[in-house]
Amino acid sequence: MTTRTSRTDKPVDAPTRVLVTGGAGFIGSAYVRMLLGPHGPAGTTVTVLDKLTYAGTLTNLASVLPDPRLTFVRGDICDADLVGRLAAGHDQIVHFAAESHVDRSIDGGAAFVVTNALGTQTLLDAAVRHGVRTFVHISTDEVYGSIAEGSWTEDRPLSPNSPYSASKASSDLIAQAYHRTHGLDVRITRCSNNYGPHQFPEKVIPLFVTRLLDGLDVPLYGDGSQIRDWLHVEDHCRGIELARTAGRPGRTYNIGGGTELTNRELTGLLLEACGSGWEHVRHVEDRKGHDQRYSVDWSRARDELGYLPRHDFTAALARTVAWYRDNRDWWEPLTS
Ligand code: NAD
Repeated sequence: MTTRTSRTDKPVDAPTRVLVTGGAGFIGSAYVRMLLGPHGPAGTTVTVLDKLTYAGTLTNLASVLPDPRLTFVRGDICDADLVGRLAAGHDQIVHFAAESHVDRSIDGGAAFVVTNALGTQTLLDAAVRHGVRTFVHISTDEVYGSIAEGSWTEDRPLSPNSPYSASKASSDLIAQAYHRTHGLDVRITRCSNNYGPHQFPEKVIPLFVTRLLDGLDVPLYGDGSQIRDWLHVEDHCRGIELARTAGRPGRTYNIGGGTELTNRELTGLLLEACGSGWEHVRHVEDRKGHDQRYSVDWSRARDELGYLPRHDFTAALARTVAWYRDNRDWWEPLTS
């Protein structure tokens, strides 16, 4: 026998219907593969809404596309009619869709403001109007700006520096506003730099690896002294899942990986992993407004959600490099 909840009028033993935006991109597809994988939650159906921009590809979902629990919808998160229809049929939204590359935002910020700010607001509005129970917003550590020493806690005021991070900070603040104004159960995650398979080869690790595998030079910004914390995409997805299933309404959770490296140190590791030398490194003019260091304090996610990164960086980086070596058919069409 089933009973019904007042908010969604959904039988309580019916599957949880999760709408995943940007689910054909790097992190979103890893999250969908996790949800529908052997260790994923029982009784969950997934709809992916993705525009399939240059950064999204259905090949990222190839292993799960035949699964009857998955529906794919090609569309734009700024399309209010479409988003409204989808929100009406879902219990939860996990929102990854974004323009995500800092360098592109420096060349032109308009698409970033439209997708990241307006697109997020369009989704939040639909979530309120159609009684979506939980909205998980995927933000970034870049919203805090640069930090010389120590690590940011979630209460630190946002101070983004690039058009990308400013557009993400906008969406982060709009999401908080929908919680405070409308009481929507919004949960925000702010993670550090992700790495792993299926990452579009414009981000530093896949860019360097694919170029080195082709015997090409790699461009290192400035003196390479900028510091980033590296987080395996599967650890990130587990953190998001903990926020979705065990997080608190209105709460923000930093998700870190625990491996801080200068870009120069990272370059050395990638050269070694690809069997290349420093003669392949070309020093290029520094990125405009380049943040010197990001570092998140993720003790809240650890203490409240039981989050701990599981991947050992050295071993996981080696597996990532091996994945790009073994999957040229995935990245060659994207780099040509
Ligand atoms: P990605 O660029 O690989 O994927 C983005 C996806 O969103 C693509 O599939 C794209 O087609 C889709 N998309 C873009 N605009 C859309 C629109 N208007 N409507 C519908 N779909 C659209 O990005 P990613 O690296 O997977 O990042 C996912 C999320 O995580 C983003 O919100 C990003 O800001 C955040 N994030 C990423 C990192 C990282 O290291 N990659 C770090 C912190 C936060």
